[in-house]
Amino acid sequence: MITKARRVFIKTYGCQMNVYDSERIADVLAAEGFEAAERPEDADLILLNTCHIREKAAEKVYSEVGKLRLMKKAARAEGREVKIAVAGCVAQAEGAEILKRAQAVDVVVGPQSYHLLPALLKREKRAVETEFPADSKFDHLPEPGIRNMHLLPSRLHAHPLQKAHLPAPVAAFLTVQEGCDKFCTFCVVPYTRGAEASRPVAKVVEEAELLASRGVKELTLLGQNVNAYHGEGTDGRTRSLARLIAALSEIDGIERLRYVTSHPRDMSDDLIEAHASLPKLMPYLHLPVQAGSTRVLHAMNRGHDRGFYLRLIEKLRSARPDLALSGDFIVGFPGETEEDFRDTLALVEAVEYASAYSFKYSPRPGTPAAEMAQVPEGEKSERLTRLQALIAKQQAAFNARMRGLDIDVLFEKPGKRPGQIVGRSPWLQAVHADAPEEMIGTVVPVTIDAIGANSLFGALKDASLRERAIA
Ligand code: SAM
Ligand code: SF4
Repeated sequence: MITKARRVFIKTYGCQMNVYDSERIADVLAAEGFEAAERPEDADLILLNTCHIREKAAEKVYSEVGKLRLMKKAARAEGREVKIAVAGCVAQAEGAEILKRAQAVDVVVGPQSYHLLPALLKREKRAVETEFPADSKFDHLPEPGIRNMHLLPSRLHAHPLQKAHLPAPVAAFLTVQEGCDKFCTFCVVPYTRGAEASRPVAKVVEEAELLASRGVKELTLLGQNVNAYHGEGTDGRTRSLARLIAALSEIDGIERLRYVTSHPRDMSDDLIEAHASLPKLMPYLHLPVQAGSTRVLHAMNRGHDRGFYLRLIEKLRSARPDLALSGDFIVGFPGETEEDFRDTLALVEAVEYASAYSFKYSPRPGTPAAEMAQVPEGEKSERLTRLQALIAKQQAAFNARMRGLDIDVLFEKPGKRPGQIVGRSPWLQAVHADAPEEMIGTVVPVTIDAIGANSLFGALKDASLRERAIA
C-alpha cells in the first residue's frame, strides 16, 4: 500500500515524445493526489519512463532498477512502502519479463496505457499492461495541467528541442501522432509504439487552445513520424499535417509552430507549401535521411533513394529560402562500405546542415538488420568521428553566419547572469541578451554580436527597450 501523502519521482529517458508522455503521466498522477518528490529517496512511487532506441536499453533499465531495489528495501526497513513502475518503450518490449527479472518492480505499463496507471497501482498484485487498446489513451487522459509539471524533476533528459517548463512554459510539446508503419530494418519503434495513429484535429486544437490560454507561445507537434499525420477533421474527412498546422496557426497567442520527427517520404507538397505560406511555421526542419548511399537506404528499407532526398531539400529551400535543416545519421549499418560512407559525407556536404545527430548502428533484437553481417566496431567509431567533425564544422559555420543579423527571439527564461534572459531563434539556437524579465514570453528582435560554442549573444535591437534593460 502507498502511504497517504504520496510523492512521485518520474525519471524520463529518450526523446521528446517521452518528455510529453511524462507530462501526461504527471497529469494522471496529480489527479490521484500525488505530489512531487525532489529525489527518488523521498518518493512513494518511482516511475522510470524508458527509451528503447539506444544500445542495451533494457540492460540499463535492469541495472537502474537494481539500485532502486536497495532504496526500496531501506524504505521498508523504515516502515515505508515504495512502488516502482517501469513505463515507456522498454516496458512495452520486455513486458512481463521485467516482473520476472526484477522483483522490485510493481507495475509495467506500455506507452498506450498510461491512463490505466491509477488502477494498476491500486492492485494488490504486481501488474503488467502492454496491450495496444482499441480506444486511444488520449480519450482518457486528464486535460493537460501545466500546474502538474511540478511532478517532473526540472532536470529532465536534455534534448535540444526541450524547453524549460516551469513555472509558466513559453514553449510546449503536443503529441499529434504516434507509432510507425514504416519498419526501417534497424528500428524498434514499430514494435514498441505500435501502428501509426493520429489524434483528431479538434482534440489537438482544443489542447493547443488550452496551452495558449496558459501562456504558451510556441508549440512543437510531436510524432514518431509526425508528417504521416492523417487525423480526422470535424466533417469526418482526413486532414494532413499541413492542414492541422494551418488550423493551429489561427489560434491567438500561438506565435510559433514546429514539428518533429519527419520522414522524407511523407514530406507532401502541401506541407512544403505550408513552409512558404504560414509565417508561424518556423524555418527549421528535422528531416532525417540516415545515410547518403542509395544501396544502404534500400537495405534500411527507407523507401527512397539519395536523389529523392536531395531533390526534396531543393524543393523545400525554394519554398522557404531561409529554411535550416537538421537530421539523423546512422554509420556502420550492416554492409556499409567505405564508399557508401563517403556517399553520406558527400550528402552532408551538399545539404549543409545547421545541426545533426549521428549514431553508430547498434543491433536491436527482433529487427531484420540485427541478423545481417555487422561492420566491425572500430570502423563504425572511425566513421562516426569523421562524420561528427563535418557536422560540427557545418553547425559552427551556420551559427557564425548569424553575427550582425537582427533575429526574432522568443524569450523563455532568465539567463545565468542577473539582467540576462534566454530565448530561441527561429532556427532553435539559444540566444542570450540583457533584457527585463517581463520580456519573457514575447518575441523581440535581437542584434547578434557574439557566437558561443552552443549559443548566440546579442543586444535588443530597439534602443528604447535596451535602455529599459539597463534601468
Ligand atoms: N522516425 C524517425 C525517422 O524516420 O527518421 C526516427 C525516429 S528514431 C526514434 C530516432 C533516431 O534514432 C533515428 O533517426 C536513427 O538515426 C536512430 N536509431 C534508431 N534505431 C537505431 C539503431 N538501431 N542504431 C542506431 N541508431 C538508431
Ligand atoms: Fe523507426 Fe522512423 Fe523508420 Fe519508423 S520511420 S521505423 S520510427 S526510423
